[in-house]
Amino acid sequence: MTQAELTAFVEEMNEPPYRGRQIFGALQQRRLRSFDEMTDLPKEFRAKLNEHATASTLTVESRYISEDGTRRYLMKTHDGLPVETVFIPEERRDTICFSSQSGCPLQCSFCLTAKLGLLRTLTAGEIVEQIIIALNDAYGEGQRTPRGTNLVAMGAGEPMLAFDSLMKALKIMSDPKGLHIVSNRVTVSTAGIVPRIRELATIEDRPHLAISLAAPTDELRNELMPINKKWPLEELLAACKEFERSLKPNERFTFEYVMLDAVNDADEQARQLANLLNRHALRAKVNLIPHNPADPLPYRPSKPERVESFKRILESKGVHAFVRRPRGRDIYAACGQLAARRTAANPIAAMLHQLA
Ligand code: SAH
Repeated sequence: MTQAELTAFVEEMNEPPYRGRQIFGALQQRRLRSFDEMTDLPKEFRAKLNEHATASTLTVESRYISEDGTRRYLMKTHDGLPVETVFIPEERRDTICFSSQSGCPLQCSFCLTAKLGLLRTLTAGEIVEQIIIALNDAYGEGQRTPRGTNLVAMGAGEPMLAFDSLMKALKIMSDPKGLHIVSNRVTVSTAGIVPRIRELATIEDRPHLAISLAAPTDELRNELMPINKKWPLEELLAACKEFERSLKPNERFTFEYVMLDAVNDADEQARQLANLLNRHALRAKVNLIPHNPADPLPYRPSKPERVESFKRILESKGVHAFVRRPRGRDIYAACGQLAARRTAANPIAAMLHQLA
């Protein structure tokens, strides 16, 4: 609930509006996850709240810690569905990668989450709670985040198909009386839901946008990302062009390009990609993501020299390109690896890190 909704809710229970603000602060700023811990509320009121509402719905099933410090949380919804969240420690500012759906309806051939299918779209509450759980675990319950937090909607699911939940969650999280994570610190990634890209462009205080491309031609993209049959590259890039008009002076948007060995990493494909982006004259950068392998995905990551060559070609044609370092691969926490796995890829390394 937003602060306003909570206030209306307590008023319906014949309580003064300030009780709503008090509960909002307890949930969102002190990051408490039960009414019983809110000892500044009268005991009877807490009992009444417990009867009519719930302060948290997700339960953490397990936590995996990577040798690089990345943490993956495998949680469960009240109806027993998996939700995964990843905390990524970084030098400048830590990042939390959250899920917008349990499973995913898109069938990208290189992504492990696709194998789950769509279980259900998450609610705004389930999105916000993921962040609260990760922050409490990383910094301590209610403790200040030392350098602020970046959020990326790059976990399981297609955030643009969870649009209402996502927008409501962003609104709740941006409240200065709560988590106070403003939209400018958030990046939403999409496989290319064209109408929602256009809609996002019209929203004031919107998050940043990233688009998963994976291929420079419709022929290959149809194969890797079937959503391309619905919204092919020309339509997608036309929507991007329109979105571009909403960019702030120093803002760019991002294309993500997963690098699959001998599938989409040839020099010729780098030239095709650069030409495609240049033809639309987009103010964008390209993040090259080495494929994170996992059984039963039929791909291998591109060789490092391939990735470098691909990057050089993009840059020689004036396209800004960056190679992303995979994080948390050993615990199935990296891009495209979230599929509610209950093991680590390298259990010994992960265990040693947990002990340290
Ligand atoms: N559904 C949204 C949000 C998920 S973001 C989207 O597709 O953008 C997850 C990112 O990881 C996407 O850019 C996706 O292309 C990438 N990805 C998926 N599987 C991957 C894998 N096995 N290795 C590396 N990147 C992968």
